[in-house]
Amino acid sequence: MLTRTTSAVLPRGRNSLTLRVRGRSIGTQSKFKIGSLKPRFPLEIIETIVGFVLLLHPFPKSGFLAIRSFTQGSKMLREISLRLYFRDVLLDDRALFVKVWDYLSTENAVFGGSNSFGWVRSLIGPSHIVASSAIKNIGSFVNLKTLELSFASEGSSTQDSVIHRLLDSFLHSPSRNILEKLALTEVPHVDAKLLESLSGMFPRLESLELGSTKRIESDCCIVCMEDSLVDIRHSPIPDYYANAEKLATSFARSLAPMSRLKHLYLGLLLSDAYALEDHLTHSDEAKGGRGVVTSFSSCLTCDRLREETQRREWLVSLSLSRALPSLDTIRWDTLFTSLARGRTESDEDGFYYASDDGFLQVPSAVTFLIHRHTGSGEVRTMIPVHS
Ligand SMILES: [Zn+2]
Ligand SMILES: [Zn+2]
Repeated sequence: MLTRTTSAVLPRGRNSLTLRVRGRSIGTQSKFKIGSLKPRFPLEIIETIVGFVLLLHPFPKSGFLAIRSFTQGSKMLREISLRLYFRDVLLDDRALFVKVWDYLSTENAVFGGSNSFGWVRSLIGPSHIVASSAIKNIGSFVNLKTLELSFASEGSSTQDSVIHRLLDSFLHSPSRNILEKLALTEVPHVDAKLLESLSGMFPRLESLELGSTKRIESDCCIVCMEDSLVDIRHSPIPDYYANAEKLATSFARSLAPMSRLKHLYLGLLLSDAYALEDHLTHSDEAKGGRGVVTSFSSCLTCDRLREETQRREWLVSLSLSRALPSLDTIRWDTLFTSLARGRTESDEDGFYYASDDGFLQVPSAVTFLIHRHTGSGEVRTMIPVHS
């Protein structure tokens, strides 16, 4: 996909944008004093044009064709276009990552002093791009602002080693203090140990997203959903934390080093671990064992858990917002959304079918908007917003 044209690079100081007078190129070798006669097309406009082209042909779908002509114009144009092209790197497999790596390595040699790996500002892809020893150090992206990795292909037995490799790769990288947003999705286990590792490595993060609940299979039947629950820690209370107070204390202590954190999303359920499985059992029985997944929000049996779950969501959010004075929002996944979506798709008994309604509607979330007192920064109020 990515091929470099060697003829594209012109010698230093001889680019195609040098002013031409009466058909003659006036370069640095001219005997005339022409300092003020060497206008160049404003870089900002060039960047805007290239950026506009890349909007229509983003990486990697454009397959490099969109910017090929830019890279052949001059060295300057080549650097601008490649810097913009590789700014947001979206990967779907390891092979593409290797191609990108090789390409940037080649450009690194071409541009010498300017580190082409610094062009990458956001990197989005699957976790196994860092899982293989064949993959180079991901911390080499020295200007990385956003990193999003899906752990969908990991299990509880591989998660720790991938996290360890990821953190190791940033150990000596300047980007550990530059990274603003880190999102690890579909992680089998989110716990205080993981939070502590991440806050130790990335203390200047402004946005952290970690979640397990997207691994729950909610688009098919009860059997598929039950199978998907086996290898994930979707609800850490009470098996891993006896109660919400203990979870709040532990999470707050682990995240405390992130003194700039503004937005926190933890894709966990704070209802008891058994709640979800119990619901699958009694909702199926109520439907005569038809194997359909019914809406949690409309279940009268489960509704007794609503108040306690919402108390936990409030309590843990308050503890975290006090421990992290920079926090503006905290988001959780929840079984108890206040929204009654999909009602028009229920059957005559008021049950929602998974194929229509998606049951949990993952991610059903509650976001607490934190308002603080000016000056003291103490929490004044938190407003829960369901989505
Ligand atoms: Zn199924
Ligand atoms: Zn229920």
